[in-house]
Amino acid sequence: MLQRTINKAVEVVGIGLHKGKPVRLRIEPMDADSGIIFYRSDVAVSIPLSIDSVVDTTMATVIGVGVNSISTIEHFLSVLYAYGIDNLRIVVQGDEIPVMDGSAISFCLLLDEAGIRVQEKSKKVIRIKKSVEVSDGKRFARLEPSQEASFNFEIDFSHPAIQTQSFEYTFSKISFIEEIARARTFGFAKDIQYLQSRDLALGASLKNAIGLDDRKVLNNEGLRFDNEFVRHKILDAMGDMMVTGYNILGRYSAFAGSHKLNHHLTKKLFSDSENYEIVSVEILKNPSYEMKFA
Ligand SMILES: [Zn+2]
Repeated sequence: MLQRTINKAVEVVGIGLHKGKPVRLRIEPMDADSGIIFYRSDVAVSIPLSIDSVVDTTMATVIGVGVNSISTIEHFLSVLYAYGIDNLRIVVQGDEIPVMDGSAISFCLLLDEAGIRVQEKSKKVIRIKKSVEVSDGKRFARLEPSQEASFNFEIDFSHPAIQTQSFEYTFSKISFIEEIARARTFGFAKDIQYLQSRDLALGASLKNAIGLDDRKVLNNEGLRFDNEFVRHKILDAMGDMMVTGYNILGRYSAFAGSHKLNHHLTKKLFSDSENYEIVSVEILKNPSYEMKFA
């Protein structure tokens, strides 16, 4: 299996979640072995995708260099994971990726418009060799060895519209588009009011999130899936694993996970070279895994 970039540069404009202002996102092909590089065009600063570039995980996953950062990269990265993209330049005219409809489906359409170009070098992935887990009270996130890439997530909210939800998901590009990509982020009206009083989440609306009051979903159109909340958590986890710059061959599972736990998980993974290896996909001799990117 070979590395992938896109065929041609494409762009999209959307609202940034925090500032509420339009942001232009442009993606450009890159040579084999270049990796994934973000570029802030408004300040001419490059930010390579790497767990070492992560500067904040409180509300979203944020990467940065010095004082310049780019927020909410996880939804876009989940699509790079699903499409198996290895090399890409992501040009952002501001400090956040546009939120679009709160899911990843617009970014799938953007990659479809760009087209995928297969490159001349072999694709490398992270193969999990030893189980790694991080926890915080009852919350945990874990990576374990597996012949497949799969994601299992469980959430438990006291809210009547969410409650306990779990979803077991075996990765493929097609199943990502059908089962995960359309799942939207969600927020509670009382939190949004508080954030907006602090000039945060100014772009948040029922057009780009599932909104909830104390009892119910506020969006007139309702939910896209009965368990849209936990599906979105898997979308986030895929994006957060892609911060490593690689697809991961292994089983991810989490209870009440978060961007913060996901970041600690990848840091712990990389803290010991016994935990993983970065291998060319051919060496795995696992044709069913290669087929997942078709
Ligand atoms: Zn999210």
